[in-house]
Amino acid sequence: MTQPAEVAKALAEALTGQRPAIVCYAQCESCQWGHCYDEPTPHGWAGPEDVEHARATGQPEPTESCACPCATAGDAR
Ligand SMILES: [Zn+2]
Ligand SMILES: [Zn+2]
Repeated sequence: MTQPAEVAKALAEALTGQRPAIVCYAQCESCQWGHCYDEPTPHGWAGPEDVEHARATGQPEPTESCACPCATAGDAR
């Protein structure tokens, strides 16, 4: 259920009000658009803009890992 196409569809549906916008996959932008790592590579979901926004609003920098399987080194295949 976390194929990039399905995530994109879910996001589109949330944005157009077809489903509750509580969908939070916390995936990095690359993964949201289906540009996943070929080799599973641990990486955070936050992009430069997210970090900048966090700084500007006095929040801690988002450091959580990307929720995508390709962010899990090892058994993700
Ligand atoms: Zn990712
Ligand atoms: Zn990915």
